[in-house]
Amino acid sequence: MRDETLSLQSVPVSTEGYDSLTVPVHRASTILYPDADSFARRLGRGADGYVYGLYGTPTHRHLEGRITAMQRGARTVLLPSGQAANVFAMLAVLKTGDRVLLPDTCYGPTRDFAQTDLPALGISAAFYDPTDLAALDEQAPGARLIWAESPGSLTLEMQDIAAIVAIARRHGALTGCDNTWASPLNFRPLEHGVDLVAEALSKHFGGHSDLLMGSVTVADPDLGLRIKAQMGRYGIGVSPDDVALVMRGVETMAVRMARASATALRLAGWLATQPHVAQVLYPPLPGSPGHDIWARDFHGASGLFSVAFDDLAAPHVLPALDALRVISIGASFGGTRSLAAPSAVAPLRSATRWTGPEFVLRLSVGMEAPEDLQDDLTRFLTAIETCIAAGKIKKS
Ligand SMILES: *Cc1c(COP(=O)(O)O)cnc(C)c1O
Repeated sequence: MRDETLSLQSVPVSTEGYDSLTVPVHRASTILYPDADSFARRLGRGADGYVYGLYGTPTHRHLEGRITAMQRGARTVLLPSGQAANVFAMLAVLKTGDRVLLPDTCYGPTRDFAQTDLPALGISAAFYDPTDLAALDEQAPGARLIWAESPGSLTLEMQDIAAIVAIARRHGALTGCDNTWASPLNFRPLEHGVDLVAEALSKHFGGHSDLLMGSVTVADPDLGLRIKAQMGRYGIGVSPDDVALVMRGVETMAVRMARASATALRLAGWLATQPHVAQVLYPPLPGSPGHDIWARDFHGASGLFSVAFDDLAAPHVLPALDALRVISIGASFGGTRSLAAPSAVAPLRSATRWTGPEFVLRLSVGMEAPEDLQDDLTRFLTAIETCIAAGKIKKS
C-alpha cells in the first residue's frame, strides 16, 4: 500500500491487560460490521446494539446506564439539553387531540413550548396550580399527561408527587416530572409512580457550567425504546465528548450538592433574618413554603433558592446587584461558581397570581467559602439600604 492509504489503515491494537477507571471517549459516526451480512441485518442488533453514531457509542451507554441506575429506572435517553429532555418526554406520549397539564411553575422555556408548539401540533396545554390538588383533580379528566416540576422554577413550590400520580392514574393519564433541582440523589420520581423523569444534566450532573445535556428516564422499557427511536428520527444525538464531561461531573455530584446545600441553608437562614427580606423560598429551610413535603419526600437539597424583598427594597434590587464581587450575575445553577439571577415571575404565571415583588432574586450557591458569600450578600444588602436612604433624602 502507498503512504496515503497506510495513513488511513487501522492497525490491530490489543486491549488485553488494559483496564482503566475512566470511560474512554468513543467518537464515531460510522459503525463497522465484520461482514456484509451483519451490515444488512444491523437493525436487528437490539436496543443497545451499535448501528450508527447518532444512537450512541459505548461512552453513551455508560452514562445512560449510570443515570438509569440512579433513577431506579429501566432505560435512559440522552438529549442535547434539559429543555430537549422535557420536550421529548412530552412528544413521546402526546399526539394530536391530546391534552397535557403543566404546573404553573414549570421551567419557562417548557411553558413556552407548551403554549407555542404543542397547539401547532393539535395538542392542547393547560396550566394548573402546583399546590392545589383538588383543582388539579377537576382539570384532569381528558388529560393524556400531567407534567410536574418540584420544586418549581423561580419560586420553588413543592408538589405532592405521589398524590399527583394518584390523580393521574384515576383519570387514565401518564405523569412526567422535571427533576432538575433535586437530581436523582435527592428525589426519584419513578419510585413514586411517575412514568417519565427528565433531568437537565447541564446543572448538577455536569456541575461546571461548561456543557448542555438532558436525559429522560422511564420505568417502562418499551416507552424508552419509543423515545430513543423518536430521538433518532429527529436526529438529535449528543457528543461523546460532552458525555465524558457529564461522566466526570457525576462522580463528584454528591459531594458538590451536599456542600452547596449546606452553604445555601446557612445563607438562606441568615437572609431570612435580614431587614427588607419578605420571604426566603427554599423548601429545606424550616418555615419556608413546602418544607413539609420536602422533609417527607426528599433525601437532600441543592444550592438553588430564591429571595423576595419587601416593597421598600424591591425597586433597588437590580442596581444593588452591581455591588456583588464574588457572586456573578447569570442564569443556570449547579456549577462551582455562585450566581445571582433577578427573575420576573408574573409573566410566567397564568393559573395562579403572583403577588410578590416584580423580581425575585434567584441564588445558585457554588463551592466558595460560605463566609465570602455572606460578605458578598452583605455588600448587596448594604447597597439596597444606601439606595433606600438616598431615595428618602431626595423626597424630603
Ligand atoms: C435549566 C433547566 C432546564 C433546561 O436545561 P438546559 O440544559 O439548560 O436546557 C429544564 N428544567 C429546569 C428545571 C431547569 O432548571
